[in-house]
Amino acid sequence: MKTVCKMNQCAGCMACVDICPRDAIRVEDSLSEYNAIIEEDKCIKCNLCHKVCQECNSPIFRSPILWRQGWAKEENIRCSSSSGGFAAAIEKAFVKQGGIVCSCVFEKGLFKFSCEEKEENLSKFSGSKYVKSNPEGIYKKILCLLKAGRKVLFVGLPCQAAAVKNYIGDYQNLYTVDLICHGTPSPKVLELFLQDYDSCLGELESLDFRTKDNFGLKNKKIKFTVPIVRDHYTMTFLNATIYTDNCYQCKYAREERISDLTLGDSWGSDLPEEQKKKGISLALCQTEKGQELLQQANLNLVGVDLKKAVQNNCQLNSPSNKPCQRKKFFNMLKKGKKFHWIIFRCYPVRYIKDLVKTFLYRLKNTY
Ligand SMILES: Cc1cc2nc3c(=O)[nH]c(=O)nc-3n(C[C@H](O)[C@H](O)[C@H](O)COP(=O)(O)OP(=O)(O)OC[C@H]3O[C@@H](n4cnc5c(N)ncnc54)[C@H](O)[C@@H]3O)c2cc1C
Repeated sequence: MKTVCKMNQCAGCMACVDICPRDAIRVEDSLSEYNAIIEEDKCIKCNLCHKVCQECNSPIFRSPILWRQGWAKEENIRCSSSSGGFAAAIEKAFVKQGGIVCSCVFEKGLFKFSCEEKEENLSKFSGSKYVKSNPEGIYKKILCLLKAGRKVLFVGLPCQAAAVKNYIGDYQNLYTVDLICHGTPSPKVLELFLQDYDSCLGELESLDFRTKDNFGLKNKKIKFTVPIVRDHYTMTFLNATIYTDNCYQCKYAREERISDLTLGDSWGSDLPEEQKKKGISLALCQTEKGQELLQQANLNLVGVDLKKAVQNNCQLNSPSNKPCQRKKFFNMLKKGKKFHWIIFRCYPVRYIKDLVKTFLYRLKNTY
């Protein structure tokens, strides 16, 4: 089997699929890893897939030239965002200036990318989706928009931002924002988790992954857990069990970044508790374009100690570690075992503690 990048190291950025003139590449998702497979009888050896692959090429890393923490001044933006609302405020200012924003949406069961130029449509980007999103088709679209003289802002994961740069090349009108990233699981893992609740992604109108520093899945129709217990998808996301293999060697998990602006959470911030509860974002600016994005947006910007911010955000230091339970987890998942049963087998103490907590919570809230 011939693959574009090293076996099991594909990040699923889909740039090779988009660039291939012969439609000879498909990305295979086997839950624990992705592979970009080349159909050799279709391949004309043009090498475009390798040129665009973010895994095969070394990106240009830049040290931040400016760093700030803070939040969106508009209360509704801050409130509907995962952290301090930097992303949404920057996106709003960008479209106000006549630009187009390209970012991740959850629609019809898919985590895909969409381009928006109207302020009223931007709310669909809000919120972190803790899953591997699929940028297929977006590269061609961005290039078309840039060629037509439009300004484009791409907001996505670091590997996706690197792929955009490889595909597009240098364009004055292209602005890139990457998120500090812990790692991403295949959306199929989330789909298998939902099966335990007799549901599926295609049925859900919306799915929230987090409310400020309270990490957990939320949906209007499904009660995943009682409030004092974390759902098992979020638990395995946060403890890094479920990411695809490439994430444990992520080259973007460092202080130097590849995009104009990097956004994350200002963990370890010494701002008042009352502000922390509402969410505080962290911004690392690598270029003048990044500074422009920050300046144009309606943000409350506060100084931050970069060294401390980096120390408190593991993903600015190194990739996530692979837990020893991961192999067993995926073996069982691939054999079709139920998600909750797998958690019981891989994390028995945690599972039983959660059961007891759930029982006591229900007892207390019934009588
Ligand atoms: C998988 C993942 C892991 C993360 N890990 C960390 C971490 O370890 N440390 C840290 O400080 N921050 C992490 N973040 C970033 C954090 O969750 C917030 O997005 C960030 O703090 C900015 O918050 P915000 O309020 O400005 O914007 P948000 O409301 O979070 O919106 C962020 C923007 O990112 C886009 N986006 C959301 N999910 C995805 C996705 N899956 N793929 C591509 N684009 C997406 C949205 O469309 C939106 O434009 C992670 C984000 C993701 C998606």
